[in-house]
Amino acid sequence: MSEACSVSLSGVRRVYDGARALDDVTLTAPKGQVLALLGASGSGKSTILRLIAGLEPVDAGEIRFGDELVSAPGRTTPTETRRVGMVFQDYSLFPHLNAAANVAFGLERSARGEAIGWLERVGLGNRANAFPHELSGGEQQRVALARALAPRPRAILLDEPFSGLDPVLRAELRETTLDAIRAAGATAVFVTHDAEEALLVADRLAILKKGKLLQEAAPREAYDHPANADAAAALGPVNVFDGRVEGGAVATPYGRVAAPGLSEGGAARVVVRIEAMTLTPGTTARVRDRRPHVAHDLVRLEAQGLVWLALVSPRAPTTETVDVALQPSGAFVFSG
Ligand code: ADP
Ligand code: MG
Repeated sequence: MSEACSVSLSGVRRVYDGARALDDVTLTAPKGQVLALLGASGSGKSTILRLIAGLEPVDAGEIRFGDELVSAPGRTTPTETRRVGMVFQDYSLFPHLNAAANVAFGLERSARGEAIGWLERVGLGNRANAFPHELSGGEQQRVALARALAPRPRAILLDEPFSGLDPVLRAELRETTLDAIRAAGATAVFVTHDAEEALLVADRLAILKKGKLLQEAAPREAYDHPANADAAAALGPVNVFDGRVEGGAVATPYGRVAAPGLSEGGAARVVVRIEAMTLTPGTTARVRDRRPHVAHDLVRLEAQGLVWLALVSPRAPTTETVDVALQPSGAFVFSG
């Protein structure tokens, strides 16, 4: 039986030395779902985890586990009673205990036999007797995950758990981790600075910048309907142009983008995803260079002195100059 519950922050503020590390943050990890926190270094992601874990107090706002109030100013229920599991980048296993004993550590004596089952669930059933120094980084991280899930926590908090690992291992471990979290029915808050990873793991995605929440949404919703220019740029490479609304649109060197709802003559920022640029032979922009980029080609264009990127099919034409169509699904205008 999973003990999972929702975790919600409402109007949460955290101040260090007079500076707001978190400012009016409101977001929810729904019961049994994965909330990804995405943001650059220093945006406040780890602070959110520390507040959820009860390691520090909130300076304003509140945190609830289900209906239960666990944090408010002057009131912080202790970490031990919150029943959260934690997984950090540096594994933090007990070096003198083998894998099974590491997993059993947080369990009642009567439940210690379950440790092997948890190791099996993360694909390490055959490594139960190995000590941390005998395990690879990825294996240690799987033990840390099993240890965090085994006591059936109300929420599991993961702080950049794969950052120290190479990309191939990282992709593998991400799948194992997400499978184990989902199989356990756990509520998870997953911190990453990698947009691709956030989009891959999240049921809900929260984008942070300098302690402020830019957007909280389902990943597809956030990608297709960014709330602002920063949120759009946080999820993948974009081209940016600052201009004015004229005739209901903003004219960029690469074409016009409709600006519905924005006031005529007002300043506006256009943000265009690089895969929303369709190239055809023409005269609008000069192709500066073109390189393979995974399954696509990355093309650097120049028009009226402005360099933009386009991610195109390798079968797209290879003329020296091109016309560009901006796909409305990936071209956004925000009042600037
Ligand atoms: P992230 O995990 O997104 O990189 P953090 O939550 O670690 O960001 O930090 C957010 C901000 O709070 C940063 O500006 C950081 O310097 C500051 N900060 C975090 N912890 C402390 C602390 N204990 N004392 C002072 N400043 C802190
Ligand atoms: Mg951090």
